[in-house]
This record gives sequence, C-alpha cells and structure tokens, in this order.
Amino acid sequence: MTNSENTTNLNVPEIDNYIGGEWKSPLTGRRKPGFNPARSSETVSLTPESGYEDLSIAVESAEAARKAWQKLAGAQRGALLFKAADLLESRMNEIGHAMTREMGKTLGEAKGETARGAAILRYYAGEGMRSVGDVIPATDAEALMFTTRAPLGVVGVISPWNFPVAIPIWKMAPALVFGNTVVWKPAAETALTASLVMDCFHEAGFPAGVVNMVIGDGAVIGQGIAEHPGIHGVTFTGSDTVGKRVGQTALARGAKYQLEMGGKNPIIIAADADLDLAVDATISGGLRSTGQKCTATSRVIVVSDVYETFRAKLLEKVTKLQVGDGLNPETWLGPCASRKQYETVLDYIRKGKEEGAELLFGGERLDDPALADGYFITPAVFDKVTSSMAIAREEIFGPVLALIEARDLDEAIELANDTKYGLSASLYTSNLGYALKFIQETDAGLVRVNAETAGVELQAPFGGMKGSSSHSREQGQAAIEFYTSVKTVFMKP
Ligand code: NAD
Repeated sequence: MTNSENTTNLNVPEIDNYIGGEWKSPLTGRRKPGFNPARSSETVSLTPESGYEDLSIAVESAEAARKAWQKLAGAQRGALLFKAADLLESRMNEIGHAMTREMGKTLGEAKGETARGAAILRYYAGEGMRSVGDVIPATDAEALMFTTRAPLGVVGVISPWNFPVAIPIWKMAPALVFGNTVVWKPAAETALTASLVMDCFHEAGFPAGVVNMVIGDGAVIGQGIAEHPGIHGVTFTGSDTVGKRVGQTALARGAKYQLEMGGKNPIIIAADADLDLAVDATISGGLRSTGQKCTATSRVIVVSDVYETFRAKLLEKVTKLQVGDGLNPETWLGPCASRKQYETVLDYIRKGKEEGAELLFGGERLDDPALADGYFITPAVFDKVTSSMAIAREEIFGPVLALIEARDLDEAIELANDTKYGLSASLYTSNLGYALKFIQETDAGLVRVNAETAGVELQAPFGGMKGSSSHSREQGQAAIEFYTSVKTVFMKP
C-alpha cells in the first residue's frame, strides 16, 4: 500500500491511489508532503497530487465492476462489509495514530472514531438483508404492484479531513451495500488515514473496481468527480462554498447529488437548566476535536436569569482544559488541523475583539516552548457577543465559544434561528413545555434536549436544514433514499 523506502524521506510513507483493486502511483508522478499539526516540521506522508486521468481510470474501473456487483444479493455484499469492519477494528490503534498525527484530534477520539467506522460498516452490512420496498394494492385485482430499489451506478464520494474515517464510511457503506460502485476522494490532509481505511476494504476482498480511491487537489479531483459523466451520483461533505459548487456542477449534467456542509450550532441554556450539566455539554460540544466538528457548539445563548452563574461555571472549567499533542494521554484539546485552520481561527479572534466582544479567556498561541511549532490555540470564550458579529454569524471551525445573552426562551430561540445554517441545536432545561416549544420552533436538522449539539447516532437520520445541507439525509435507513432510485413495478400474469 505504501512505500516507506523512499530515498529522500526515510520512514515517510508514500501514499498511492487505489484503483481497480491495485495500489497505483499517480500518473502525474507528483506527491506533496502532509504535516503533523502538533509538530509542523514532521512530515507524516507524501500524498498523491493526482490528475484527471487518474480519476478517469478509476471511474472506468468502477463502471466495469458495477454490473457484476449489482447482481450479487445484498447479503453477499454485506458479508464483505462485515469483513471490512473486523479489519478496521483490529487496526484501530494504527489508524487512530495516523489520524492524530495527520489532523490533531486526541488519540482517544481518533480511536473512538475508528470504532464508530466499524459499527457503521456492520449496520450497513445488515441493511443488505432488510426490506427495500413496499407492496401497494393495485386497482386491477389480477395485478401485483410493488416498489423495489435500483442502485445509481458509480457514486463519487468527496469527504473532509475532520472525520476522516467515519464520514467516508457512512457514505461508502450504504453506497456499496445497495449495489453501487465507488470512487472516493478523501481530503489530502488525511491521506494516510484514508489509505489505511482503503487497505481494510482491499484486505476484505471486495472485487476489483468496486471501490476505488483517488487522492489529489479538491479543485482537480473533487471538481472532476462533480463533472465526470461516468459518475451517476455525488455525495459531498465539506464547506458550504465548495459544496454549492459541487451541487451546481452535478445538477447541470443531471447527476444526483447530496451535500452536507457547515454549521453555526447554538446551545440554549434556560433559567431552569441544570447548569453543571449544561457547562459540560457546552465544553464537550464546543471544544472536543478542537471545535472542528460540523455539529460543534459555537453560540452559547444563555437567558439573563442564569447568565452570570453559567459564565462563571463555564470559565472555571475551560481554564483547566489541557491543550497539547493529541498523542499525549494527558491532552484534552489538540491543535488546529492545519496552518490554514490555525490562521483562520486567530483571524476570527481578532475580528471578535475588533467588533466589540470581550475575550474572557484564551484565543492565544500556546505558551509552551516544547509545542512551539504546533498549531495550538488556547480555547477561547467571548462574552457580550451580539448576533451581528462575525463570530456569531460565520462558521469558525475552531475552539471558540461565543456567549450571547437572551431575555427569555422566546428571544433565545429567535437568536438561535438567526443564522443561514441549520445543522444542530441544543436546549438545556427541566421544563417539558420549554422542550416542546424548542423542538417545534428551532430550525435545525438535529434537535437535542439536554444533550450536546455534537453527537450523532449512526442508526438515525443525519443532516441539516437551510444552508447546512441539500436537505437530504445520511446515515440510518435514510441513506437508502440517496443511494438508490425507486422502481414502481406493476405486473400481471
Ligand atoms: P472543504 O470544502 O474545503 O473540503 C471538503 C472536500 O472537498 C475535500 O475532500 C476537498 O479536497 C474537496 N474540495 C475542495 N475544493 C473542491 C472543489 N473545488 N471541488 C470539489 N471538491 C473540492 O471542507 P474541509 O475544510 O475539508 O472541511 C470542513 C468543512 O466541512 C466545514 O465547513 C464543516 O462544517 C464541514 N463538515 C460538514 C459535515 C456535515 O455532515 N454537515 C461534517 C463534517 C464537516
């Protein structure tokens, strides 16, 4: 899979593409270094800078494999997903280490995500044996009318770096079990992790061409997937700017598409909330994975009655969080995933101050000479944030919490909805009436009561409202809607 005998970069694995059941160097011959965000001088891998030709060969392989793959029973396809799950689980430590070294999340979170990947594979392996249609009474007494499902064909998967195992698996597993073949473009930042995931599929024995991976620039391989006439469906997770372009390109050539994009997720703390639980949920939802989750809590909307008490309790805990290298077991909060993320976060902290928010804590480069070349930022808590500020409107994707005061629950819900996004929203309360009001009035695809904004159950539909999504849903049984087309069958003897 990889070649660590590279003469210029000893011990730095050279990543290949995976096409037609084989590991292949990019035809361009070009690779670029990927760096460890905790120690930016450390090269983690040399990742392919593939070209459109590499992508086209992968699409041809997927096309050549799809007829035979489609003809298998769902249970036969599912059996291979079960094998991939076992392999992924058995390599959890190796994959977790690769993930932490590539994008910085703590090793515990990275291993947890890998275990989640195995669980998703098993869930969809089981889907191969579940019902895919309905019998509908026909008006002709002699006829049988029913629905069945057909795969789309070749599915292009474009995934981000922030969940480099779980997200591609929650796209590829349903695509495969419902009879599609796959061409996957992982984020180049997490190419080593991606190649280890792909190796599990390889070892599981998927027929050649059923699943392929091509790594390269988003503008070349990602855009190429959106444009390629041989790709029948495109599933994308990433930023809203790129997602909208991918969707428009796919739509223009009549391909099916699905987009999951950004968030600006609020947590509301009502006057009757258990404040200790609410503080823990705010910290876990907002700062785990260094705030780099699409479902991360970003706006903390607290009603006036408990504002000061909540703020004091929050600060007491945030100031104690241990920032450091995710491989260190003491670390709670790792670095930003890349220099680009790090600079973006610092820029938002500067903007927050300029716009008049009060930085109560953090938002600074870590003052530790041993970690001087990592992209570490201490977790930031802003007070006196208003809805018009950039830190309340734009997705930061970093360890920044913006405290916003609301008069009462009505105003809090109004503030929560005052965003172009609609992915996740949470309320802490002990009042059933408040909970019901929030569930009914909040514009979010994931509505959480007394639970943090982040946190997703793999068997439940996942996706956003408004600008967060193309309004389709991933995961659980909802995934069948994207990866198949309904066939309505009317049959007479
Ligand atoms: P990104 O949009 O920069 O990249 C996502 C993927 O698209 C990568 O594989 C990238 O290489 C590719 N890409 C880049 N330019 C492209 C182009 N012109 N055409 C086609 N593909 C292109 O996003 P990112 O920085 O990797 O990830 C962070 C973003 O992802 C955040 O906005 C976050 O909210 C979002 N996200 C959303 C969800 C969700 O389910 N809603 C989950 C995780 C992350």
